[in-house]
Amino acid sequence: SATGADTSGPERRLTVLSGPSGVGKSTVVREIRARNPEVWLSVSVTTRAPRPGETDGVEYFFVGDAEFDRMIAEGRLLEWAEFAGNRYGTPRGPVEERLRAGVPVLLEIDLQGARQVRENMPGAFHVFLAPPSWDELVRRLTGRGTEPPEVVQRRLDTARVELAAEKEFDRTLVNTSVQDVRDELLALILAPQV
Ligand code: 5GP
Repeated sequence: SATGADTSGPERRLTVLSGPSGVGKSTVVREIRARNPEVWLSVSVTTRAPRPGETDGVEYFFVGDAEFDRMIAEGRLLEWAEFAGNRYGTPRGPVEERLRAGVPVLLEIDLQGARQVRENMPGAFHVFLAPPSWDELVRRLTGRGTEPPEVVQRRLDTARVELAAEKEFDRTLVNTSVQDVRDELLALILAPQV
């Protein structure tokens, strides 16, 4: 059937990494991209502008509002969310293709997106990346220095709410060391405990 069977099917290979902005998700993901080609990383589309050092098609596909609207209208996004004034979404086709082929897939998305995946793909395994402490998170969000203060403040407000969502997740990893988190996450991706 269209429901039920999916829970034990290919979605077991789908791992969702979420957590507050600034907690270090993208650093962990960058490590996995560089070292673990056996894991397929979904490349999101976003309407935000590229940061220095970001390449179209690597960290994100950078698109305009009209293209993002079109992708929503055509059902081409698995999930999408507005975050700190920009929109982010996961292209559906590539993810479904890899899952059908039995390839482990990792999504790095915000909390709203994780909720949509939980609804739409009940077999996915959800990992929450937590900061060692609130002070540490503030330090990281403030220290990045790539965003104007009002953008940092919006991200802090969002992060405070996001920290409370930890209980919705299958597993929490505390980001004390990038290497430790990378290894723990990799183990979960390759042998999901669902
Ligand atoms: P940043 O602008 O710092 O790259 O990302 C901001 C937030 O958007 C992060 O929490 C990141 O995980 C999230 N994000 C990135 N791609 C997606 C996506 O495709 N969908 C959703 N829902 N969130 C995303």
